[in-house]
Amino acid sequence: ETLDKSLEKSKTNFFSKLTKAVAGKSKVDEEVLDNLEEILVASDVGVNTTLKIITRIENRVASDKYLGIEELNQILREEIAALLSETNTGEATEFVIPIAIGTVQSKPYVLMVVGVNGVGKTTTIGKLAYQFKKAGYNVVLGAADTFRAAAIDQLQIWADRVGVPIVRQDMGSDPASVAFDTLQSAVAQNADIVIIDTAGRLHNKINLMNELTKVKRVMQKVVGDAPHDVLLVLDGSTGQNAFEQAKQFTAATEVTCLAVTKLDGTAKGGVVIGISDQFQIPVKYIGVGEGIEDLQVFNKYEFVDSFFK
Ligand code: GDP
Repeated sequence: ETLDKSLEKSKTNFFSKLTKAVAGKSKVDEEVLDNLEEILVASDVGVNTTLKIITRIENRVASDKYLGIEELNQILREEIAALLSETNTGEATEFVIPIAIGTVQSKPYVLMVVGVNGVGKTTTIGKLAYQFKKAGYNVVLGAADTFRAAAIDQLQIWADRVGVPIVRQDMGSDPASVAFDTLQSAVAQNADIVIIDTAGRLHNKINLMNELTKVKRVMQKVVGDAPHDVLLVLDGSTGQNAFEQAKQFTAATEVTCLAVTKLDGTAKGGVVIGISDQFQIPVKYIGVGEGIEDLQVFNKYEFVDSFFK
């Protein structure tokens, strides 16, 4: 799906409330701002980010003296874009990986993927492998989520669909050992990119931390500076739950980028604005459907433009 189409429900939800809240009003006043605050929170933007947005609009009202209601949309768009620009996380528009832009010196580039079950982790790995392969890279997948047989099988299905090799062991085997094998195999094949799936069992933070640390340590025996990125996958349709998971994972391991899935068909798309503002970690990818092509490189300005169009 396109970004515009994916955001339809979120926009309908937001603007139907906003239209009601400003009915009969000619200017942005205290009451409009109170209502706006409530609507932003109800749209999963999150309390902290909402307060920042409201403060910016209050300042705007104070400096411009008068803000007509018909300007509110444009002002929201400008102020949210300005707010997100303060998180200087860079902007990408294509599926480019660091070896191509020279910040990772040696092949393979290793991407470790974390996230709890059901968020769309396997699907995102499959879609990424497809995009990277399409861009001309040799990709190898590692099935280090050995906790569930279904996870290994699902990843295998994606590997077959995309046509990339996968390294796997039996269910219950040591994730670090799978990761080690995967990297060795990738080096032997002179692969460009390795994507390692991991199990995300958040119910025990210490276990999760230990497991991810061990996977990293063992990978570094093969590729000294692996992993080059740790991608946390979050389910956008869970709104504030996605927020909570981001908090817990970033506390348990060093996450370097985020993917927010299932933005199609949810009214909770506003969560991406809050996540982009709160975590100081770039949202790199968004999932906009179940199909192989339904992954986009996230651009925060495009997102805000599309939302407030
Ligand atoms: P995992 O347990 O985290 O590996 O989750 P899966 O990748 O197996 O995905 C769980 C379900 O979410 C599957 O039915 C996927 O098709 C679906 N899914 C994943 N990403 C998206 C997305 O961006 N949009 C939609 N609509 N569904 C998605």
